[in-house]
Amino acid sequence: MKKDLKEIARQFAKSKTLNDFIEYGGVAAAIETADGNIYTGISIDTACSMGFCAEHSAVAEMLKNGEHYIKAVVAVGNDGNAVPPCGRCRELMSQLSKENLNAIIEVKNGVFATLKELMPYDWKEDLDREW
Ligand SMILES: [Zn+2]
Repeated sequence: MKKDLKEIARQFAKSKTLNDFIEYGGVAAAIETADGNIYTGISIDTACSMGFCAEHSAVAEMLKNGEHYIKAVVAVGNDGNAVPPCGRCRELMSQLSKENLNAIIEVKNGVFATLKELMPYDWKEDLDREW
């Protein structure tokens, strides 16, 4: 993991209220790809649960640029502290590529785990599918 990955995410973790329905930037994420590029994303929280996580928007940015192999990822809250990815984001990152199970994730400040460690008994392991 690049040393500045969390610093890059912190730049965007600034919660802003757009109106009575939407708040964004409460969480920001930075992904370092196998090619060494960094993509970022922010969370969007809305009424009626239409928002998404920072990791999701960082993944979209990565895919937009033609990459899907994650080397490392970190998400930070407004306070700048690392937060672990939710179950949905873990699943999303794992479905992009089996290789992503080796991605290093800062789950708390200074605490690192692989995506595989966060996903025991992965339902995809025993399927006869390529990914
Ligand atoms: Zn999530």
